[in-house]
Amino acid sequence: MARKLFIPGPIDVMPDVLEKMATPMIGHRGKDASALQESVSKKLQKLFYTESEILLSTSSGSGLMEGAIRSCTSRKAAVFSCGAFGDRWYKMAVTNNVKADLYNVDMGKAITPEMVDAALATGQYDLIAVQHNETSTGITNPIEEIAKVVNKYKDVIFCVDAVSSAGGAKIEVDKLGIDILITSTQKALGLPPGMAICTFSERAIKRAETVEFRGTYFDLLAMYKYLKKKNYQYPSTPSLSHMFAMDYQLDNILKEGLDKRFKRHEQMANLVRAWAQKHFELFTDKNHLSNTLTVIKNTQNINISQLNSKLMEKGMQIANGYGDLKEKTFRISHMGDYQLEDIQYLLDTIDEILGF
Ligand SMILES: *Cc1c(COP(=O)(O)O)cnc(C)c1O
Repeated sequence: MARKLFIPGPIDVMPDVLEKMATPMIGHRGKDASALQESVSKKLQKLFYTESEILLSTSSGSGLMEGAIRSCTSRKAAVFSCGAFGDRWYKMAVTNNVKADLYNVDMGKAITPEMVDAALATGQYDLIAVQHNETSTGITNPIEEIAKVVNKYKDVIFCVDAVSSAGGAKIEVDKLGIDILITSTQKALGLPPGMAICTFSERAIKRAETVEFRGTYFDLLAMYKYLKKKNYQYPSTPSLSHMFAMDYQLDNILKEGLDKRFKRHEQMANLVRAWAQKHFELFTDKNHLSNTLTVIKNTQNINISQLNSKLMEKGMQIANGYGDLKEKTFRISHMGDYQLEDIQYLLDTIDEILGF
């Protein structure tokens, strides 16, 4: 079946998963809610290769990004940015009166372990924030190498935005020493938008205990404490509908097999990259290409909005470039539950529209 949304979130949700959103309500303070939330957490721990506790937030991923930097920066945060989402994380720090410095690289390039080392060596920082996958430029940062550097600095809390990759790429949270890994439901997890997920390490808990002004709704420590005290419940009413769907979808993901799922994402990426290089050029540094979306340089000067209108007539949609990169680049996402045939169908349709 040809699917519709090849934008980097929200993406299509399988009909059986969508149906679970319509599960009749239960009280959020009952045993059933505890059991549901614990079940979701245990499955997410498998997906993220972690023993850290999982926190679920009824917000999009941005809520937990803001919560993480605010709850866990004691002295100063080093925010590394290779695009729009890194810049946004820095803005979250500044507007919350959290001390932070921004380190960036040119669009289309990756953060290097060397620049992280140089920043952390100054001894000014006790938290670092970095994207695993930068959705505006199609970069997957070299997270293993960055982790090696960060782990040298025992005092530094390691926060990773994996909103557009978790569920589509292997991220071994405990092995990499990641304290807080953040993601949203509407991207590679293949669920509707509306919930955010993070891991919360022992080190992050200890750090948050030293931070005075953690806010209220996105206070990660308060969420954690409540969850522990009330057996997997949350301080405010969570989106139970998402929990029902997530519990079911995580079974599907684990049944597919994680390695198989990540391999499928790589194969979809390879298909799009080969097509892009045949007709256009890749925008992104070839050493750091994302397996969940591809950003393509518009070397043929096609009208991307027009292409998208034509695609939409056929029930599909891709994404224009992000911000200043609009019309100069375009983006095709290949994440979630799409199969190679779905991607091939999209590429064939674009070929037909553009007369390739
Ligand atoms: C989509 C995205 C976000 C924002 O997530 P929301 O769920 O929309 O708040 C943050 N970072 C990256 C890398 C993203 O792709």
